[in-house]
Amino acid sequence: MSQPDIPFPNSPVVPTMVSETHTIEFSCHKGIGCWNACCSNIDISLTPYDVLRMKTRLGITSTEFLKDYTVPYEMEKDGIAGIKFRPVEGGSACRFMKPEGCDIYTDRPTACRYYPVALLSMRKQDEYVDRESYAIVKEDHCKGHEVNRRITIADYRKEQGLVEYDDLARGWRQLVLKKKSSGPTIGKPSLRSRQIFFMACYDIDRFREFVFADSFAKLFELKPEERESFATDDAALLQFAFRFLRQVMFGEESIALNAEAAQERLAKVQEKRLIEEREAAKKRAMESEAEGADEGFD
Ligand code: SF4
Ligand code: SF4
Repeated sequence: MSQPDIPFPNSPVVPTMVSETHTIEFSCHKGIGCWNACCSNIDISLTPYDVLRMKTRLGITSTEFLKDYTVPYEMEKDGIAGIKFRPVEGGSACRFMKPEGCDIYTDRPTACRYYPVALLSMRKQDEYVDRESYAIVKEDHCKGHEVNRRITIADYRKEQGLVEYDDLARGWRQLVLKKKSSGPTIGKPSLRSRQIFFMACYDIDRFREFVFADSFAKLFELKPEERESFATDDAALLQFAFRFLRQVMFGEESIALNAEAAQERLAKVQEKRLIEEREAAKKRAMESEAEGADEGFD
């Protein structure tokens, strides 16, 4: 199964973009000649919500899930990281593939649900929201395209439980797109900010410890009901993680800073402005001195 999520580097097919109303002819069912062929050769990127569902299913922490079931990769050079499924030791098959089918079917990741459709999220530089369109992946081994069942992509998404999966991963897709489209304007993220991005997106149990640590409370103010829900509700905490990252990566403030921290921040901004003004004045003075010297040579 090739990875159809963004970006789309290893696809066997150059995708044609279609909308949700497009009808596909496809059905996958046990007994089909190619059963499990797609799960025997995987290259699957995972979303933060995929991690949350699978670590809950397996009864392990997100930290354990990341270590045992995934490998990190760079979504863009020197940029932010993504994660992919780690296949079986020494092979390319998915570790959840069983002769009877997927062993974690009800919690299978987004890419497995979408196949053979691919979600393509795009964002124009001057737009705040992302646009979603779709592509169809046709691989020779997949006989599902030969089955006579017509279904629109909108209905296929509903059938595969993707409405919830996409809703809960939308904040992450927007962050990735915004980071890619802003590119060098916000510069290369530091190692620390890349680590924070990784933790907040994929390692929800460590992010919870981070949010409940004293150092976080010194900087940010959380409402009591938020603290209560973040303590037990992974999905709510994940949505907060995306808000937190928007704030630290792009300065989109939606989490209140505590009064002392806000004061310190204001002082820093004022100090920075003062330094910039002094430097500009110094530059102007040097330029006028240089002009004066030129005039002396006439
Ligand atoms: S998670 Fe399930 S559906 Fe996805 S590749 Fe693995 S076995 Fe196949
Ligand atoms: S029909 Fe396609 S998706 Fe279904 S088992 Fe065969 S290769 Fe996989």
